[in-house]
Amino acid sequence: MTADPPDIPCVEVLDLHKRFGALEVLRGVSTKVHRGSVVSIIGASGSGKSTLLRCINYLEMPTSGEVRIDGEPVGFEHRPGDQVRKRSAREIARFRQDLGMVFQQFNLWPHLTVLGNVVEAPIRVRGMPRREAMELGRACLARVQLSEKANEYPARLSGGQQQRVAIARALAMQPKVMLFDEATSALDPELTGEVLEVMRGLARDGTTMIVVTHEMAFAREVSDRAIYLHNGLIEEEGPPAQVFGDPRSERCRQFLAKLL
Ligand code: ADP
Ligand code: MG
Repeated sequence: MTADPPDIPCVEVLDLHKRFGALEVLRGVSTKVHRGSVVSIIGASGSGKSTLLRCINYLEMPTSGEVRIDGEPVGFEHRPGDQVRKRSAREIARFRQDLGMVFQQFNLWPHLTVLGNVVEAPIRVRGMPRREAMELGRACLARVQLSEKANEYPARLSGGQQQRVAIARALAMQPKVMLFDEATSALDPELTGEVLEVMRGLARDGTTMIVVTHEMAFAREVSDRAIYLHNGLIEEEGPPAQVFGDPRSERCRQFLAKLL
């Protein structure tokens, strides 16, 4: 990966609004995520965390505001002479390839092996030669500690292992940033640890990550910055020691207290 000038964030969110009919779910969210940093997003159910992630990768079209990846607006292009051109769906899809998404539901292809799942997108979407994709796929499986399961079918794996395959599948697209939306919420408690351990490893390796999670101890440990979202607005943002340990917002304080 090439180093960017330090003043261009990997992801920049500028005054993002998202409305579903009469419901304004995001009401002006702005933040920056620098290369190699981990940002966690916490907040009550319904506060807009998933919508924010889905707007960042344009699975949802923002109502207004913008998202920039490495300084480039995803939704439109600035043309000479102050002209602005909306990007086509195809162009937006290309930006989306730079964002690896891991959901609560892993949705692996049941008819493909573990390695088959991981190499599918690099081959079909990126057009990578099969050999090269296989090599990359094996390296990604090693990062999630699943090298020995390469030829297994998803149904034969535990939920924790399946989610680790989903992480490897996202990594195989060599994204600029990984987005996690409650990646451990669908798992039995005894299986969350192995997934968090993999995410911890990615953070240690300098992967740029935006992590929506209810695992507060984990978020506090791995994040460089934490964001508390309330009713579609950033209510508190700062170093994890502040947000989790001594939040300025009374609402954030109460939200955290309820989890203890
Ligand atoms: P969180 O992830 O923090 O629980 P969400 O972003 O999923 O919150 O949802 C925020 C609000 O937006 C909720 O009230 C939810 O019902 C609403 N919402 C989310 N997606 C849609 C949609 N596609 N259509 C209508 N309302 C939606
Ligand atoms: Mg959600």
